[in-house]
Amino acid sequence: MTSKLLFSASVANPPLDHVDVVVVGFGPTGATLAALLAQRGCRVVVIESSPTLNPDPRASFFDGDSLRVWQQMGCADEISAASIPLPGLHFRNTKGDLVLDWPMPAGAGSSSWPASNLLHQPELEAILRRRVQDLGVEVRLGERVVAVSQGDEFATVLTTSTTGTAAQRARFVVGCDGGSSAVRAALAVGWEDFDCTLRWRLADVEIIGDSDLLDVTTAVMDPSGPSMVGHLAHNRYRWLWLQSPGHDQTFPDDDEVLSSLTHGVSAQNARLTRQAAYVAHARVAKQWASGRVLIAGDAAHLLPPLLGQGIGAGIRDAANLAWKLAAVLHSELPTEALCTYESERKPHTRAIVGLSAAISSYVFTWDAVVATERDARLAAGDVPLELIPVPVPLGESSLRVGELGGGSEFPQWRMENDTRTDELLGDGFAVVVAPGSGSRRTELLALLLGTLGMDLTAWQTNIAHDETVDRLAAPWLAANGLTAVLVRPDRMVAGVVAAVASEPVSPSELLVGAGS
Ligand SMILES: Cc1cc2nc3c(=O)[nH]c(=O)nc-3n(C[C@H](O)[C@H](O)[C@H](O)COP(=O)(O)OP(=O)(O)OC[C@H]3O[C@@H](n4cnc5c(N)ncnc54)[C@H](O)[C@@H]3O)c2cc1C
Repeated sequence: MTSKLLFSASVANPPLDHVDVVVVGFGPTGATLAALLAQRGCRVVVIESSPTLNPDPRASFFDGDSLRVWQQMGCADEISAASIPLPGLHFRNTKGDLVLDWPMPAGAGSSSWPASNLLHQPELEAILRRRVQDLGVEVRLGERVVAVSQGDEFATVLTTSTTGTAAQRARFVVGCDGGSSAVRAALAVGWEDFDCTLRWRLADVEIIGDSDLLDVTTAVMDPSGPSMVGHLAHNRYRWLWLQSPGHDQTFPDDDEVLSSLTHGVSAQNARLTRQAAYVAHARVAKQWASGRVLIAGDAAHLLPPLLGQGIGAGIRDAANLAWKLAAVLHSELPTEALCTYESERKPHTRAIVGLSAAISSYVFTWDAVVATERDARLAAGDVPLELIPVPVPLGESSLRVGELGGGSEFPQWRMENDTRTDELLGDGFAVVVAPGSGSRRTELLALLLGTLGMDLTAWQTNIAHDETVDRLAAPWLAANGLTAVLVRPDRMVAGVVAAVASEPVSPSELLVGAGS
């Protein structure tokens, strides 16, 4: 690796002793990554420019996959208990007729956590931050990273704060520093732009008294001025008005805003907490890592809000990266394993950002002719197939082969004693086998490991197996035509062995694209 000064600044203090990972930014992505790394025995420092928690409501939606990651982190129950469900989205035409009802899955999904959740982002961040601090991670608030450099062994961040400048050396630096990421800028990485920029004026409102006004999020697809209204969490609601291109952003006074609200909300029963301009983009960073410096969360991708993946995409990044970084730091995987972070996560994210941009452009058009045709087709039940979300697999990598029903995630089951099966599988690799195949577990495991492009020798003696999980997974294995699955620490499927009745297992049984 060549020495490369990514961004320069004068340094008052010499570099300190090194840590394993500097996480830049203490939003949902940075907090989750820091906790997962600390749990794996890594010495982590979090550097966050803001001295206090950001009190603004921003995202509010997250899915069951995020809760599954927070389960690993030890705070999913607290987050789930504080959240409320989002039953779905309604799309209405200019006249107010419901032309598309998009219900969210009720109850638990394949992660065994509720699939559709709302929570005020500052409350979510407060829970995540408490957990990070409970794990003993050093967090430096009020320090801004202004430069990043790297050499063969270390990367160094330079920071400024009210007490001056400082430097921190680490084996790796991960920029979780949001859409205006200084770390991404230091890497000189540009965006791939999906050409969907939505300029919103938003009003956040707290309802006084009965807050049960509307539970679904509603988009009004009026081409003369598209708008949305949705439940953020408990007594919090948000109205959004799309601003036409070139619109000069001005904010009406509070009384005018309150009198313009719908669903029975007015100055009599509501308090306006914030007016803001919010520009949503659909973008993916062209490169997610360079040597010892990586980016995650909004630093690596920006999503329009309709699919609600702003938080979730960053949590997926953190889960994908944490075990790999820890394994590299503990010499369980070669440094090249980190390339799989970008090769797996970027194609997945590109698919979600692309779909999100396509849905947003379809819903929020300013073209009256296009809108009239769209509404007529929707009224006839004709929803464009390419806009229907489907599970997206991770991209190619040497740490996985095979897909399951289009996705890559191994499910989780909730047990009678209110624990979940991930807890039985530990925090490393695990093998799950179909009933009746237990005696062939060693043989199956050898086959599974042999398919991967990366040597897992360091893990091999520690690969977990639990018969309760085998039993609970049996219907799922049968439905996917599988005899055995190798599950990664991030609960993605590393490899599969197909079920072939009465035949000995051979390498030719190993599937790429199982279930297809
Ligand atoms: C108004 C608004 C509404 C939104 N609505 C939705 C929505 O409805 N649905 C949805 O899914 N998403 C929404 N989002 C996006 C969502 O909030 C983000 O996707 C999510 O917060 C990303 O988390 P993150 O941890 O990656 O980044 P962030 O939450 O942006 O956290 C980055 C952190 O890094 C810190 N930081 C920045 N620069 C530096 C530096 N140089 N040094 C040190 N620290 C630094 C910041 O202070 C911040 O704490 C919205 C965003 C906004 C702004």
